[in-house]
Formats: sequence, C-alpha cells, structure tokens
Amino acid sequence: MEHEIRAEYEEGLLPHEDTPVKLWHMTRIGSTTAMCGRDLAPAAATQTAEAWGTPKAEPFCFLCGAQYLREQPGH
Ligand SMILES: [Zn+2]
Repeated sequence: MEHEIRAEYEEGLLPHEDTPVKLWHMTRIGSTTAMCGRDLAPAAATQTAEAWGTPKAEPFCFLCGAQYLREQPGH
C-alpha cells in the first residue's frame, strides 16, 4: 500500500508555504484522511513516506506512526 505524509495545521489556519505545521500524519496516497482517522485539508502540504522518521516530518502523529509500522513488516 502506498502512503504519503500530510500536514495538519492549527485550527483556522489556511495552509500556506510558511504556515507552521502542527503535526504530520500518514495517509494513503490520494486520501486526505489520516491513518489515525483525522481529516486533513486537501491543500495541506505533503511529503513522500520516505520522510517518515526524519526531522523533516516532525512532529509526527504517534497514532499514524504506530499504524504505519504495523503495515511495514521488516521496518
Ligand atoms: Zn495521525
């Protein structure tokens, strides 16, 4: 299953390039619903799943991380 990382912002903030990211979540590619169940903005910033575990994707949603790990045997 292909995944990507999508940003969550503070409530009321519209995603812009310089908007501070509240939390990064893992989603399936093409979906705006995170693996933890949170709905994310379609315009939110995304990163490839490879950024998971690196400083670029911090802070990262703990629930999404746990779910993602479960789907990635060998990681
Ligand atoms: Zn999440």
